[in-house]
Order: sequence, then C-alpha cells, then structure tokens
Amino acid sequence: MSDNTLIADGKVVSFHYTLTDPDGDTIDSSDGGEPMLYLVGAQNIVPGLERQMLGKTVGDELVAKVPFAEGYGPRDPNGAQDVPRESFPPDVELEAGMQFMGQTDDGGHFPLWIMGESDGVVTIDSNHPLAGVDLSFAVSITAIRDASEEEVAHGHPHGPGGHHHH
Ligand code: ZN
Repeated sequence: MSDNTLIADGKVVSFHYTLTDPDGDTIDSSDGGEPMLYLVGAQNIVPGLERQMLGKTVGDELVAKVPFAEGYGPRDPNGAQDVPRESFPPDVELEAGMQFMGQTDDGGHFPLWIMGESDGVVTIDSNHPLAGVDLSFAVSITAIRDASEEEVAHGHPHGPGGHHHH
C-alpha cells in the first residue's frame, strides 16, 4: 500500500478521536483503546465528520467542528415519554443512556434511549443523547485501506475495531 492514499468512497479508515461538547468537556475518546473504523460513504459516522475527513491521508490530524444539523440532528422537544417498567423485560437492568429498539405498529424499528427510572416509571427519549449538541472531533488518521467486497456489501468494516457479527 502506498502511504499517500487519500480518504475516498470505498476505503476503510482507522482513526483516533476525542469528541468534545461546546463547553470543551470530553464526551468520548478512543485514547488508550483501539482506533475507530469506518467505511467511507456508508454513513458509519455522522455526516459532518465524514465530509471533513474526505481527502485526508494517514498521519493527518484535524479538528472537525460539526454543528448538530450535521451531527445527530436537532432535538425533538416532544421526544421524551414515560412508560411503565412492565414495558421492558423484567430481567434487564435499566440504566440511563441504554439504547433500545422500539417497534412501530407497522413493524418498523426505531431507537430509544433510557433517561431514567423511578417508582416503576421509565422515562424514554427518541432523541439521540447528542441530538441538538454541536460537536468537535479532534481526529488523527492512523490507517487507510481498500474495503473488501464483503464490507461494501454489508456497509461496514470488519476486523479489529469493526463489526464482529460473523
Ligand atoms: Zn458485516
């Protein structure tokens, strides 16, 4: 592999990142762990970050400012809802931040997040926890390679740092 490969559709990119909110508080980081992997063009990462990574190469570092509209979207003020504890499996311990899949009447699925639980009532929210939050990603690109046909077909990378569902 040549070391001047650029980030473009059909590549698998590895990168380290630190994600901070507008107050400068760290939300998430790959520091001390495996780099994050994504398949370019497959919407594995938020659109604003994906766009700003295009054309970069191994060793590049950047700070990508991603407004929420290009991140996890606006926050729906009506997204929160209280539901009885019995709506969830009794053997699952519910914690704030956990994600569940809800089901619509016509069989579709949508993500829900647990906000909290008290007195047998669970508060859920259809908003991603980072909806409405402007994001700043400090990124360091560590590897770029061609995606395999299988990865392109699945729409995500395989191997260390990728999906492990096979
Ligand atoms: Zn797969």
